[in-house]
Amino acid sequence: MNAKRPLIAVLTGAGISTDSGIPDYRGPNGLWQRDPSAQELVTIGPYLADPEVRRRSWLMRAEAGALAAEPNAGHRALVELERSGLPVRVLTQNVDGLHQRAGLPARKVLELHGTAHRVQCVRCRVRGEMAAALVRVAAGEPDPACPACGGVLKPCTVMFGETLDPEVLRQAEAIAKACDLFIAVGTTLQVHPVAVLPQVALERGARLIVVNAEPTGYDPVAAELIREPISTALPALVRRLIAGQ
Ligand code: ZN
Repeated sequence: MNAKRPLIAVLTGAGISTDSGIPDYRGPNGLWQRDPSAQELVTIGPYLADPEVRRRSWLMRAEAGALAAEPNAGHRALVELERSGLPVRVLTQNVDGLHQRAGLPARKVLELHGTAHRVQCVRCRVRGEMAAALVRVAAGEPDPACPACGGVLKPCTVMFGETLDPEVLRQAEAIAKACDLFIAVGTTLQVHPVAVLPQVALERGARLIVVNAEPTGYDPVAAELIREPISTALPALVRRLIAGQ
């Protein structure tokens, strides 16, 4: 039997994807802070109630082009970490799918806020591809309905006003409890309930490394703080971890 090897949990937020051209919508200078009417487009109540909100929401997704974004050096560094054989699990607040696109096996990635690559009917729960829905938008359907039942389609993302999937949250807490090293990358660790995960890890004796340009509430209890840009900081950190330092 193999000896237990230390599990590394990596929590990633918007900061890891900004170098891939995906803006940090929730950040202090993010779109949703500057323009409350834009936040409405990703808030479940208005989205379900108002076809005009849905029309603008689909248009925003079509124009954002997020599905075409490419992974960057930060995402690739985590693939390198996983391929080194060290046990690693990535918990991400991002919905862009760039960890998997970079080459991380899907089973190693827990998408806390869902995925922007899929859509789901709010009535019959059938799922489909976002790309197919956006093709219908481009073809002139302002608010593409569920092909199975005619219900409202929404992205498989956790919108404002929705709660995280309890099973996903349970898995995230289990990983935080089991890890020996918790690395928080590109997140200010302010959004609940994700914000409690480092605390869960710390209580079990894990070491915490924070990689973020801005201060976080966990800085005082972190074993290490890295302020450099993620695209250079994360590859350097991964090289150290693989070397056992
Ligand atoms: Zn349906």
